[in-house]
Amino acid sequence: MFSTLFQATGFKRAFDLFEAGRFDEGKVLLKSLQDEFMAVCDENEALKRQLAEVAEVLDLAEKVRFDGQKYWLEEDGERKGPFCQVCYDRDGLLVHLHKHENHWECRSCHGLYMLPREADTSHDKKPRLRAAMEKTVPLFMEREMS
Ligand SMILES: [Zn+2]
Repeated sequence: MFSTLFQATGFKRAFDLFEAGRFDEGKVLLKSLQDEFMAVCDENEALKRQLAEVAEVLDLAEKVRFDGQKYWLEEDGERKGPFCQVCYDRDGLLVHLHKHENHWECRSCHGLYMLPREADTSHDKKPRLRAAMEKTVPLFMEREMS
């Protein structure tokens, strides 16, 4: 990068200016060197943050499972989710899917995911709806406005 070279030569130039008694010019040069230094420090901090983010993403990627439709997060033997496949593949973001009667909805990209037929029979069973669903599999459903 340019700034490293600038600093290496800049310090020598400032030294020469002070030695020659050209203090005002020397001070101006030192000030600009300080600004350069601060910019390099900022850049260094930003790079450290980026590196930490990349490490986080790699760590996350090892815990993410795909069920053929949606993503789940497996952490300490616990399964969290589901999360939107589109949002994770596109942006690397795990967006929680919001559960409706017979589908999940992504509130970010508005993608819809059908609930598996055998899924989660623990909550209130609706046999008639279940039977209807087996005949027709709607791809898109009316979204309730919230
Ligand atoms: Zn989404």
